[in-house]
Amino acid sequence: HRRRERNGAMTDWTDFDRAHLWHPYASVLDPPSAWPVASARGNRLRLADGRELVDGMASWWCAIHGYNVPELNAAVEAQLARMAHVMFGGLAHEPAARLGERLLALAPDGLDYVFFADSGSVAVEVAIKMALQYWRARGKTRRTRLLAIRRGYHGDTLGAMSVCDPDTGMHHLFAGMLPRQVFVDAPPNVTDGPWNEAHLDALARALERHGASIAAVILEPVVQGAGGMRIYHPEFLKGARALCDAHGVLMIVDEIATGFGRTSRMFACEHAGIAPDILCLGKALTGGYVTLAATLASRRVAEGVEAGGHVLMHGPTFMANPLACAVANASIELLLASPWQERVRAIERGLKAGLAPCRELPGVRDVRVLGAIGVVQMTRPVDARRVQPMFVERGVWIRPFADLIYVMPPYVTGADDVARLARAMCEVAETISEE
Ligand code: PMP
Repeated sequence: HRRRERNGAMTDWTDFDRAHLWHPYASVLDPPSAWPVASARGNRLRLADGRELVDGMASWWCAIHGYNVPELNAAVEAQLARMAHVMFGGLAHEPAARLGERLLALAPDGLDYVFFADSGSVAVEVAIKMALQYWRARGKTRRTRLLAIRRGYHGDTLGAMSVCDPDTGMHHLFAGMLPRQVFVDAPPNVTDGPWNEAHLDALARALERHGASIAAVILEPVVQGAGGMRIYHPEFLKGARALCDAHGVLMIVDEIATGFGRTSRMFACEHAGIAPDILCLGKALTGGYVTLAATLASRRVAEGVEAGGHVLMHGPTFMANPLACAVANASIELLLASPWQERVRAIERGLKAGLAPCRELPGVRDVRVLGAIGVVQMTRPVDARRVQPMFVERGVWIRPFADLIYVMPPYVTGADDVARLARAMCEVAETISEE
């Protein structure tokens, strides 16, 4: 390992990266390739060697307007000239208030209070703490568990991990350290057949059996993201809301991946016409500029938490960071001023058409598309170390995981680039199908 020289001379930064930096879910001792990026604009990533890649990932759901967006840059610069940050304890500022106002106006009805957290995982922790404090403050000390859906993903901190799928979420690595939650089987993919009320049976049975010990049900609406890129019927979400009501259990909806138009509705809850008691937002909230998340709650939740004179016990250092709030305000304005729904629907049509040929490949299990999300599920795990370079060679940035090749491009992606992404997915799926 080459180290930084004491006299200030620096090693090549990519060598340092390879030698010392952890990348997500990757070995630091035997690191896989990481392509150096020099800059990004629109839906293109420019690599240090000058190659340009069409971005299929929106940097994990968040860069909905693409990169280096003039309106968002201007918002950051304007806020920077005022203040980058101040503590939120005892102080207030306009960027946070304006953002809160926008979120409550856009979000499903019945949500009245906003907690700004620093990442999606923290927003989920806050949601869980709200639910636990809600029952504790009301003297219901037995309601300490969460009911979660298998194949779900909610983040990487300990509380959030405890409600991720026990297998894909690697619970065995943390056995004894994670709170033990109740899980029910995930509803089938929409591509598995028509909706059937029986798909709610597992959830209904679990609530009958464990209801008195459950603080809240937590789920991702309509699309289960990092746990398997699954798309389920909105009727399941509707039924889940009704079951939560019937059992007096709170409902936490995690829209961190789906929020801000990704599924062709502003929030995926709208596919089912439901509103949760607690809603988690993140990722695209700042248009992918900086980390910020929010947990929204109903008045019932706020009153429950504060019963007996308690308050919500959470307060991160960078809570409601003004730079992040300012760029989030600009991102939402830009989204609302754009024909986002037409763009997302056009991407949906492009992905459906472009991925259709994949369906017949022997190595492909399923092809699913909803809004600006396209998924090719293979019959076997995809070897990312080998497959990732195939995409870069084809001039696209698509990052497979598990048995999935999938995209969720920026909404500004034009028809030609959508076709190019889909073609690369089909070609790579075909190549690995034949092996
Ligand atoms: N919930 C969902 C549905 C997510 O997709 C993610 C991020 N992949 C998270 C929570 C966690 O967010 P973060 O990575 O910002 O902590």
